[in-house]
Amino acid sequence: MHIPETLRAHALSHYPILHIITHDDAEVDTLITQIEPERKIIEWNMARGLVRFDNKQPLMAWCDLAGALDNLLDQELTHHFIVIRDAHMGLRDQPLAVARLKALTTKILESTEMEVTIILVSSEKCVPRELEKFITLFEVPLPDETAIRTIITEYADAYGVTVDENGLKKLCLAFQGLSRYEIGQLINRGYQKDGMIGAKDIELVQAEKSQIIQKSGLLEMVKLQENLNDIGGLEKLKPWLVQKSQIFSNWPAARDFGVESPKGVMIVGMPGCGKSLTAKATASQFGLPLLKMDIGSMMGKYVGESEANMRRAIAVAEAVSPCVLWVDEVEKAFAGIGSGGAGSEVATRLFGYFLTWMQEKTTQVFVVTTANDISALPPELLRKGRFDEVFYVDFPNEQEREAIFKVHLQKRKKLTPDIDLQKLAKATNQYSGADIESIVKEGIELAFLDDCSPLSTQRLMQVIASTHPLGMVMKDKVKQYKDRFAEMKIKSAS
Ligand code: ADP
Repeated sequence: MHIPETLRAHALSHYPILHIITHDDAEVDTLITQIEPERKIIEWNMARGLVRFDNKQPLMAWCDLAGALDNLLDQELTHHFIVIRDAHMGLRDQPLAVARLKALTTKILESTEMEVTIILVSSEKCVPRELEKFITLFEVPLPDETAIRTIITEYADAYGVTVDENGLKKLCLAFQGLSRYEIGQLINRGYQKDGMIGAKDIELVQAEKSQIIQKSGLLEMVKLQENLNDIGGLEKLKPWLVQKSQIFSNWPAARDFGVESPKGVMIVGMPGCGKSLTAKATASQFGLPLLKMDIGSMMGKYVGESEANMRRAIAVAEAVSPCVLWVDEVEKAFAGIGSGGAGSEVATRLFGYFLTWMQEKTTQVFVVTTANDISALPPELLRKGRFDEVFYVDFPNEQEREAIFKVHLQKRKKLTPDIDLQKLAKATNQYSGADIESIVKEGIELAFLDDCSPLSTQRLMQVIASTHPLGMVMKDKVKQYKDRFAEMKIKSAS
C-alpha cells in the first residue's frame, strides 16, 4: 500500500496521532495534502507558531507548542488535520505540551464526529511515554531505484533533455540514500552547469555525500590511491572481490536474476600483510567511496551513547550508499573482553547490532572488516553466514614476496632487469608486505646517498640482512594467531 493510502486508512479509522518520520519537508507537505484533500489543515511549527498549512502565514502571534495547543483545545476543530512540525523539538522535555497534546487526544477520541487527526512530523522518532498508545509511526522511505528513475526522467522531460540509459543507470545508483529534495537540487545543479543531465553529474553527488560524512563526524572518507594491482599475492581473495564487484555494479539485474546482495567480508591475519591495503583496493575495484568506521572511538561514556553513535554512523553510510564501509581493527573495541568489564559487553552488543544490520540491510553498502588479533573477538561474531566470507591473511609465501617486491619497485620506477626478484624473495621468509616495502624504501634512500647509484639486488640484500622480519619479532604472538586461525578453519586469502 502507498503511504498516503495507509495514512488515509488510519485517519478514517480514527487513529488520533499519526507520526511521520522524514527528512524531507517539501515532500511531507505534498503527502499530507494527499491524505484527505477535503480536510482543513492547521500547522504548528517551531519558527512561526500556529500557521495556515498552505502558505505558512501566521494565524496568531507566535507561541510555543503548549500555548498553541491550549488555544486549539478551545477551538471548534471539526474535520481538521493538526500538523505539528518539528515535533521532537516542540515536545522534548516539555511536560506541559505533552499534557495538552494528551488532553486534545482525549477530546478527539471522545467524539468520533469531530474527525480530527493530529500529525506529528519530525526527522527523528519522538514518542513521549504518556502518548505511546495513541501514536502510530510511519517512516517515509527514501526513494528507491524506480522512484529515482521517475524523478530523473520527469526532470529531464521538463528541461527537454534526454538522458542515455547508461547515464540513467549510474545516476540511479549514485542518488540512492538521498531524499527527493536533495536529488532534485543536484539534478538542477548538474543541468545548470552544462545544460545536460547524465553520468558526469555523479561528481556532484559524491561531493554532496562527502559533505554528509564530514558533518556526521563519525566516519572518515578515505582517499583512494590503491587498486587490486597494488596487492602482491592474495590470489584467492582478489578474484573473490572482483566477482562481488561485478554483482554490485550490475545490481538490479543481478537481484532480479535471484542473486543475493553481497554483505561483506572479514579479513583477519598478520599485521602489515595487506588487510588495510585490500580494504582500499576493494573500494577502487567497486568504483565506490570508502568510509572508515572506528568502533573503538564510538564507545561513549554514557548509557546508550555508543548505540546511538552506531545507529547514526550506519544511517550516514546508508545515506552515502552505494559505498564500501571499512571497519578497521575491530578487535580494539573488544580489548579487555573476558575480564567481564562493562566495556566489552557494550562492544559485543554494538558489534552484534552492526552484524544484524549487515545481514538485514537492503542498501548497497559492502562491508570490509579487518582484524589482527581475533583471540579478542567473541567466536560467534566470526561464524560463517555473518559475512559472505572470512579470509585469513598470512605472511606472504615466496612467490607472493616476489610479487610484493615487484609492486613496490615498479611503483617507484626502480624495477630493472638486473634486480633478482627470486633471490630477494628467498631471503625474506617471515617478512610481512610492510617489511618488504620498508626494505625497498630504505634501499632507494641508500642508493641516493651513494651518489645516486642504480638500485641493485646486492644493496637490497644488505638492507635485508640488517633488518628483522616481523614474523621473528612477534614470534610468540604469531604462533598464537596461527593456532587460532587453524582452529577456526578460516579460508586462506592466498
Ligand atoms: P595491515 O594488514 O596491518 O592492514 P597494511 O595493508 O596496512 O597492513 O600494509 C601496510 C603496507 O604494507 C601497505 O600500505 C603496503 O604498502 C604494504 N603491503 C602489505 N601487504 C602487501 C601486499 N600483499 N602487496 C603489496 N604491498 C603490501
